[in-house]
Amino acid sequence: METITRRSMFALPWLAFGPLVRTASGTAAGRNRPNILYIMTDDHASQAISCYGSKVNQTPNLDRIAAQGMRMDRVFATNSICTPSRATILTGKYSHMNGVPVFNRFDGSQPTVAKMLQQAGFYTAMVGKWHLGSDPTGFDYWNILPGQGVYINPTLYDKEGSKVYQGYATDIIADISIDVLKNRPKDKPFFMMCHHKAPHREWTPDEKHRLMFANRHIPEPANLRDDYSGRTDALREQKQSVFRDLTRHDLKLTPPADLSGPALRQWMQTKPMEVEIEVDGVKKKLTGKELEAWKYQRYMQDYLACVQSVDDNVGRTLDWLDANGLRDNTVVIYSSDQGFFLGEHGLFDKRFMYDESLRMPFLVRWPGGIKPGSVSNAIGINCDFAPSFLDLAGLSVPGEMQGHSFVPLWKGKKPKDWRRSMYYRYYHDPGDHNTRAHYGVRTNTHKLIYFWKKDQWECYDLVADPQEMRNIYSDLKAQKIVASLKRELYRLKKELKDDDQFAESQPTDSSYVQPPPARKQ
Ligand code: CA
Repeated sequence: METITRRSMFALPWLAFGPLVRTASGTAAGRNRPNILYIMTDDHASQAISCYGSKVNQTPNLDRIAAQGMRMDRVFATNSICTPSRATILTGKYSHMNGVPVFNRFDGSQPTVAKMLQQAGFYTAMVGKWHLGSDPTGFDYWNILPGQGVYINPTLYDKEGSKVYQGYATDIIADISIDVLKNRPKDKPFFMMCHHKAPHREWTPDEKHRLMFANRHIPEPANLRDDYSGRTDALREQKQSVFRDLTRHDLKLTPPADLSGPALRQWMQTKPMEVEIEVDGVKKKLTGKELEAWKYQRYMQDYLACVQSVDDNVGRTLDWLDANGLRDNTVVIYSSDQGFFLGEHGLFDKRFMYDESLRMPFLVRWPGGIKPGSVSNAIGINCDFAPSFLDLAGLSVPGEMQGHSFVPLWKGKKPKDWRRSMYYRYYHDPGDHNTRAHYGVRTNTHKLIYFWKKDQWECYDLVADPQEMRNIYSDLKAQKIVASLKRELYRLKKELKDDDQFAESQPTDSSYVQPPPARKQ
């Protein structure tokens, strides 16, 4: 019999029914291992989820997961961008250990949590946005969007080739996921990754929700017009500004009828500084502050409408589980590959280590395992997801994984030695948005950020200044805390074996689409 690690001890509710019996291969035999349904969206900020206190929308179905389970308030991405976060979730490792610091191709021959669960007897499935440049490995079933995929009538491809699905991506990904669960082998627990495309840029809503926010005034964040005073060059140099960098395509402006081909593409990619709109049949030209305010509303209307379809479809998926006797023995997680700026600091997109981008929503329901309505403020990172899934399966966590299982936290038993700080590193510089490379440390009370190519620092007191507006790095009275954060930063960097091997990584194109193979007849 294999020794059960201290970490996994917390995780085994079935220990009450006797010790875990493992086969020689390490496969837990016979007991009631929970199913795992991991639902993830792309770029969904916690500020747009009502159980996180959203001021801009209501998400009753996501709130249901939190009400029936736990809301985790401090789960952070270790590199806040799509492809790297996905590689980290699969491997339990930082970007510098899994080889995906930017948008490069994921080497699917490396160990992943999907392979480990598959080997341990789980039925494994992956549906929706994969975005790792190579085909999935470790899944009994997979069906994915090529690259970013599209919102309307998307193509997905599986081992047999590609197929165009009529309809809206969020509905389709939920439909396929439910179908796969219906047809799964019933003698095995399942591990499903259901990855929605929404609400990624260019934020195309479905018809049902398109006008839902059209006539509402969406409250602006207090720091929408942040003037970046006291901060380093990075905020001034970025190209992810709501006022400056949204294109005509993002704003869904109608092109002149006579444009086509490259001229049309160029028109769509232009960032307009003057827009003509029609109000009650009267044409009106918007410029300056009026245009800026309009751009924010336009951005948020579409973003939030995309989120609403996610909320509906998560509700539909939960209803299906509940109606099919899978509620009690399925751990359901809702997360996003990173956070997103909804106008905070005047930004859209992610990348920066500021909290709105750093924080991943993380909601989890596990009847019998998690007390309904729980909240955790323990610092979690996306390296923790794979260890958590393994722990749920009664498997020990390989030493090379750099995270720790959330299961003790879910069961209300925070380990005394749980982490009190997290390390972050973003490499994709300059990239589409000219976001400067940086690394840093976040504790429960402070954040220190180092833009290493610029040799510039920012430090924030998150208790006194949760919006991260006042850089205290050079304040005389902050020197003690700055020194202690630097020590912690370099301690973590060493502990996590980040020896700067990817420090000069060059960004790759984010919009690549690997051509899906033709379907075999
Ligand atoms: Ca993303």
